[in-house]
Amino acid sequence: MYDKVSKVATEFIDHEEILKSLDFALKHKSDKAYLTDIIDRASDMKGISHMQALALLECEDKDINDKIFALARRIKSEKYGKRVVMFAPLYLSNHCVNGCVYCPYHLKNKIIARKKLVGEDLVREVVALQDMGHKRLAIESGEHPTESPIEYILECIKTIYDIKHKNGAIRRVNVNIAGTTVENYRKLHDAGIGTYILFQETYNKENYQILHPTGPKSNYDYHTESMDRAMDGGIDDVGIGVLYGLEHYRYDFVGLLMHAEHLEATYGVGPHTMSVPRIRPASDISLKDFDNSISDELLVKIVAVLRIAVPYTGLIISTRESADVRARLLEVGVTQISGGSRTSVGGYAEGGESEDSTQFDVADNRTLDEVVCWLLESGHLPSFCTACYISGRTGYAFMDIVKGEGIANTCEINALVTLSEYLTDYASSSTHAVGIAYLESYIDKMQNAKLKESIQKKIKQVLAGVRDIRV
Ligand code: SF4
Repeated sequence: MYDKVSKVATEFIDHEEILKSLDFALKHKSDKAYLTDIIDRASDMKGISHMQALALLECEDKDINDKIFALARRIKSEKYGKRVVMFAPLYLSNHCVNGCVYCPYHLKNKIIARKKLVGEDLVREVVALQDMGHKRLAIESGEHPTESPIEYILECIKTIYDIKHKNGAIRRVNVNIAGTTVENYRKLHDAGIGTYILFQETYNKENYQILHPTGPKSNYDYHTESMDRAMDGGIDDVGIGVLYGLEHYRYDFVGLLMHAEHLEATYGVGPHTMSVPRIRPASDISLKDFDNSISDELLVKIVAVLRIAVPYTGLIISTRESADVRARLLEVGVTQISGGSRTSVGGYAEGGESEDSTQFDVADNRTLDEVVCWLLESGHLPSFCTACYISGRTGYAFMDIVKGEGIANTCEINALVTLSEYLTDYASSSTHAVGIAYLESYIDKMQNAKLKESIQKKIKQVLAGVRDIRV
């Protein structure tokens, strides 16, 4: 039975509740009066339920869809301003004991080269990321009891935080590793991680078991309850997601929102981020084996409706998507993107993708510098800020800000200052010129004289060599 505050996976992700939501959406997707009412009510930016969200997603009426996109754009603009948070994935190890049929790291793949970063190899990789200008990483690892136990992950986190190369520093390490015990989550928390990220892949238990035939990840309940254990271990910023293409999109769209509602209702803090990746080809993985793929149009609509449903949650899109699709997604709700990503173990230091160990094919192959320049030219404000995490604004404290006045104002100074750091230390001459013009014009248009003066002062400090200035 559906119980959103239960800690039992099949109760907070109740199959019958999802079927009810599908039926509800089918009945209401053409009811213009009902849908208009949801959109009107959602304009208070307090979010909507999973059932209401699916009804909006399923609507095919052009006028209603125009209103949905307009509201999504407004929420993005009012809650987050122009800023787009930048990050990069760092693949530590591709040894894995699981049998996930959509991932090339699965145990039975004998084609892929198995690699793991240790010692100098890890240092080289982090230095390469710092030299690109990254400040925020998401570390990724396959699940393996001897190759990547928690001690290995903790050691890597410590190494990453300790490396200070030129003006570089990784200031926030997010962690994307397999579901683990409360005790291990406590260790990750104590190691100073940012967000703990774990994708559900699919919320459909029956299909989940087909997609995860072997290994510890085949335990649906344990995997689905991971965020509860993470919260119990003291991690209050968690990131959830599904892999579109595995299951019919409607089921996972509802499941994802039910998971968010569960976290909010049980811990008073919803997910810090949501990711909406689509399955990509890779070694030993063919898209022909997955018949639930979704179109670009549908992905854009999904992001727009998520923006309305969970206005307080950051939405992430990776380099799995092309530049064109990323541009569309940024307009309607995405707030964080990766740039210059390598999805192989050791790919950054090697200066190119190590084809024999990639987790998926990257669709946006541009360098970080090119992505930053593109964002600036499109009017976005690339941000390398990690201040909330460093200042302890996590979990409830962070959500309180987003749900209140929003983070557009709170983060504006930090975004502008970290961009000026990036431009000074890492940008190519052409991106530097575009960035300086952007900063001048942005600051020039600011109405608040005190804020303007404060930013100008901080940017002068950056030019004088001071780093990690934040409010
Ligand atoms: S998805 Fe994760 S757990 Fe599954 S095979 Fe790939 S690395 Fe292993």
